[in-house]
Parts: sequence; structure tokens; C-alpha cells
Amino acid sequence: MTDQSKDLKVQAKAQKINGVRGMNDLLPADAAQWEHLDHVLRDVARAYGYEFLRTPILEATAVFQRGIGEVTDIVEKEMYSFEDRLNGEQLTLRPEGTAALVRSVIENNLLYEGPKRLWYTGPMFRHERPQRGRYRQFHQFGIEALGFAGPDIDAEIILMGQRLWDELGLKGVRLEINSLGQANERAEHRAALVTYFEKNTAQLDEDSQRRLMTNPLRILDSKNPEMQALIEGAPKLLDFLGAESLKHFNAVQALLKSNNIPCKINPRLVRGLDYYNLTVFEWVTDELGAQGTIAGGGRYDPLIERMGGKAAPACGWAMGMERVLELMKVSGSLPEPQAQCDIFVLHQGGETLTAAMIIAERLRSAGIDTILFCPPDGESASFKSQMKKADSSGAAFAVIIGPDELAKDEAQIKDLRASGEQKSIPLDGVLEAVMNALVGASE
Ligand code: ATP
Ligand code: MG
Repeated sequence: MTDQSKDLKVQAKAQKINGVRGMNDLLPADAAQWEHLDHVLRDVARAYGYEFLRTPILEATAVFQRGIGEVTDIVEKEMYSFEDRLNGEQLTLRPEGTAALVRSVIENNLLYEGPKRLWYTGPMFRHERPQRGRYRQFHQFGIEALGFAGPDIDAEIILMGQRLWDELGLKGVRLEINSLGQANERAEHRAALVTYFEKNTAQLDEDSQRRLMTNPLRILDSKNPEMQALIEGAPKLLDFLGAESLKHFNAVQALLKSNNIPCKINPRLVRGLDYYNLTVFEWVTDELGAQGTIAGGGRYDPLIERMGGKAAPACGWAMGMERVLELMKVSGSLPEPQAQCDIFVLHQGGETLTAAMIIAERLRSAGIDTILFCPPDGESASFKSQMKKADSSGAAFAVIIGPDELAKDEAQIKDLRASGEQKSIPLDGVLEAVMNALVGASE
């Protein structure tokens, strides 16, 4: 190549385009983990009779403004919202699942015949500062029980979480629980809080001064270390709960206790979303640094009516799948990487390719995962380089069809793992030989 043609080649090379910051690709090396997690989530949801519901990733912005609350981190600063260029509609990439699910339940009249147990999973979008365990596209699994008023369902959804952590082999997960009471109780507490913080405005940071006017309860959620002592001394909501709220809270705790689920009451647990009442809870761990909450939720009785539906009680929780996978890694409970296939088929092109492709199809029809070697140059490749590929695919056996074998209506089967043994088999007996070999290998 001349210098000039080299230069031209460099110029012609297109600039690469990167993915969006904080939004990650799921690479093949990690696919097995996600598949395993999806599988366990689905099994646990089914074990409790929860049904799957999927909503679109885009919703009218109003769904979240109304469903999450205007004065929340999510709605104030984390939503990806835009105007539809064609009709001017205000749209938002969903930042969480509950508001959209409730929108769908109302729109499709799903509570018509009584309460519903539902679950969902999928990507969520929040414009946050990306760091370990905090991304701009992340994935949640969530469950929602709609139309049930009693403490039994609060306990049930918490038991589901505990079962999940056990199934996934998570270590060091603690349950924290609190009660937010009802609106009138919170109003009394709020008045007491405002009085308390107004006496101490100098110690409030800028965010909290603003919240004092809009949503003083959220000051308790502040992570600012300089305000922790002040927050510690603030009036506690639990002291403002009436008899009914206390009864509900105590009943949830008693049910958890009788199922051996330890929990710690955290009076400062208020949750980021606006719509909660009575029971709220989070599962936390010390193993993941600052992003230590793996899941959280609670009761949100006012939401369905607030979204325009017929009033019905509800509760649920959501978990961050990336954080759970990270904790599985720390706990040493990630599944082993899987082999790409059971059988790898080698050939030398031409008629041997034709025969190999027919055999590969026959194996797949019998439920055997099979990779057929395809030469990168579209022509041919040595058996040696094919064998390397077969080895790294994780296949248990290779089936080899060369011109010599084909001339005799035969193939070779080679054990790629234990013995390395290689033997001839009749071409029309490959499926049987492979099945026997796989059964033998798994014994
Ligand atoms: P945090 O306090 O960590 O911001 P949150 O209260 O905003 O969490 P929720 O809205 O309750 O979180 O979402 C439920 C779960 O989703 C969280 O417990 C967490 O595991 C996960 N999650 C929330 N935001 C993110 C994110 N940006 N990246 C990855 N996971 C997230
Ligand atoms: Mg958040």
C-alpha cells in the first residue's frame, strides 16, 4: 500500500459513535446472569399468583407528574421529557413503573372484577449522575397488589422480597420499615416539622430551605451529612399516628415476625415518591457503597383515585436489577457462564458444508443447541482453526464432516471435554450418537 492510499484509508474511516452516558449495553458475557435473574423473578411472582403486565416505555408526561408528585427528585430534575415533534404532545421516558401501571389498570378497567396482583419488569430512565449502581437507563422488577386494604398484603409482598433474596443467594440484606400514617396525621406532623425547622433555618441547606415551603417531609430524606444531627432531633411521624394507623403497622410487623422476617423500624424512612401512606419499607445492604438500597416500596392507597380511577387501596415495591446483580456478584452467587452450544459442527466447504448444515438442522430440531462453523472469509478454514473455535464455544462434542468421511457416508464425533476421544459414526446415525454422547456426558 502506498503512503497516499494509506492516508486515504485513514480519512475514509468513519468516526465511531458512542452510546449515551449512563446507559449500558448488555453484553453477551453478562447475558446468562440477566437470564437467570429474569427467571427467578418470574418464578417468584408466579409462586404468589402475580400476573405480568407490560406498559410502553413512553407515557404522557402527566402520568408521572400526577402519579409521582411534582415536588419529587424524579419529576423536578430526573425525567427525560420531550415534545412529540409531530403533534406537540408532552412525552416522558418512564422513570419508574407504578404510575404507568396504574394508568394502564384504570384505562383497561382491570379492577372491575376485584383486586389484582401484578408484576412488571423493564428499563427505566432517570437523568442522574452516573456512578456505580446509578445509571440513566436501569432496570426494575416490581410488583403491585391493587385493591387490597389489609396488612396481610403488605406482609405478603415483603415475604416475596425475602424469598427472592434467598433464591438469588443475596447476603447482608436488611429490611427497614416505617409507617407514614394517613394524610391528616402527616399534616399534624408536618406542622410540627415546619415549626421545628423554622426555628433552625440557618442549619438547612439550600435544597431543604426550598423543601420547607413545598414538601418538608422530604428534608428528612436529605443525605447531607451536615444536617444529620438536626434531622435526628426532628419530631417523629410515628408519634403522630392515630389508632387505626398504628393497628395496621403493628399487624404488618406481627405477620413478619410470625414468618421469621427480621425488620428494623426506621422512623426516617419516607421514600422518594409522594404517593405513599401507611407502610413503607426498603431493603438495604452495606455491600454496595452509597447505592445501598436494592428495593423499596409501600402502600399508596390514594394513587389510583388521584390518577382518575375509582378509589382502591394498593401497595407494591420495586427493585433495581443492576444493584441486585452487583450484590449477587459480591455474594458469590452469580451463575456460571454458560456454554454457547452443545455441539459444534466442522466441515470443509462444498458438499461437506451441505451435509453439515442438514445435520446441524436435524440436531436443532431434536432440541440440541448447535453451532455450524462458518468460515470468516466465506471460503474455508483448516480443521485446526475450526477446532479452536469449537473448544472456546464450550460445546461438549464436535461433529466433523470432511471429504474423506463424506465419501464413506460417515462423520466423526469428538469429545471436547473429558476424554478427547474421537470415533467414526454413520452419517445417518449422527443424531443418535450425539444424543447418547450428551446423555453419557451429563451422567
Ligand atoms: P435512590 O435513593 O438510590 O436514588 P430511589 O428512592 O430513587 O433510590 P426508587 O424510585 O424507589 O429508588 O426505585 C427502586 C429501586 O430502583 C431502588 O431501590 C434502586 O435499587 C433502583 N434504582 C433507582 N434509581 C436507580 C438508578 N438511577 N440506577 C440504578 N438503579 C436505580
Ligand atoms: Mg433516586
